[in-house]
Amino acid sequence: MLAIVYRGADDLRLETVPVPAIQPGELLVKVAVCGVCPTDIKKIHLGAVPPPRIFGHETAGVIAKIGAGAGPKFRIGDRVALHHHVPCLKCHFCRHRAFAQCPQYKRTGITAGFEPAGGGYAEYVRVMRFVLPGVVKIPARNTFAEGAMLEPVNTVLKGVLRLALQPGDTVLVIGQGPIGLMFTRLLQLRGMKVIATDLMDARLKLARQWGAAAAFRADAPRLPQKLAAAAPCLDAAVIAVPSQAAVLQALDLVRGSGQVLLFAHTHRSPQTRLPLTPSTPSHASHSSYKSYKSYKSHPPALDLATICSDEKDLLGSYSSDFTLQAEVARLIFSRKLDIRPLITHHFPLARTPAAIALASAPSADSLKVIVNQQLTNE
Ligand SMILES: [Zn+2]
Ligand SMILES: [Zn+2]
Repeated sequence: MLAIVYRGADDLRLETVPVPAIQPGELLVKVAVCGVCPTDIKKIHLGAVPPPRIFGHETAGVIAKIGAGAGPKFRIGDRVALHHHVPCLKCHFCRHRAFAQCPQYKRTGITAGFEPAGGGYAEYVRVMRFVLPGVVKIPARNTFAEGAMLEPVNTVLKGVLRLALQPGDTVLVIGQGPIGLMFTRLLQLRGMKVIATDLMDARLKLARQWGAAAAFRADAPRLPQKLAAAAPCLDAAVIAVPSQAAVLQALDLVRGSGQVLLFAHTHRSPQTRLPLTPSTPSHASHSSYKSYKSYKSHPPALDLATICSDEKDLLGSYSSDFTLQAEVARLIFSRKLDIRPLITHHFPLARTPAAIALASAPSADSLKVIVNQQLTNE
């Protein structure tokens, strides 16, 4: 079969590899579509994991083979969406709902060969027994692409639920790429007032269509005043861009007891470490809105009194929550959350590197990019 094999940093090759063999209790799925996800892009660009691997984990396709004892739930020909991580639901972390820290969850249960890495950029994937609870059937009227969005939407809903919000609360969502737009829509569906920022005008327009009450360019002059006029009080902020300045700015902007959720800071590096020594008296920055630009050139320090005296929370959310799977499927398949407009670009398997290039440097009209094997490789 054909597969896109990661051979090192920014080195992806179209190769012929064996169709994976399955064990008893496993499934073989013929991949139809696979979403391009920023976490894979990061690993590929940085060469963060040893090669060779076949990436791609937002996968939907058709069951092609069923291993003995996989259960009566599955039939050959079923259209299914896959989850490459499934928690054990029994360990310390699972009991504390920190599923992404569960040792079983950290194992990748879907592979097209080599060290398991999702395998969605290949014609077939092997679905291991321990991730079978993550296999979801796609209703006949829904597309494979909708199925492939279960995983990213799940991660976003998990993030939303990390925030202690009540209907009517105001949330700033920084970054309106595919993930930011999903936050905007899910928050709006749950009764929140959403204020959105981004650096691309096209995305601000979309943010309004997806439910934002107001949307501003993150580099706009007088942004702080504009934000204050649109939302006198911010109860929470979601940081859907990997910017440290945005985190500090959001901590400053939310009101006392407000929460700031990190969603894009997945890469460990010296740049993601906050300087903890105050560079300015906290009162100077407190409640005074500052522009992105001034934060970029003079990154302020995190004053820990923000957390202690102002009782503001700095939270993170990573990966998906298995227990939300049914709710996410209902949201997407009922099209209450219609993710179809989010998918702007389809690439055939052979052009996966171009799909990844576009997703890592989005154009004005690109949002979610998927590899679609229903297209022919020219
Ligand atoms: Zn992903
Ligand atoms: Zn566990």
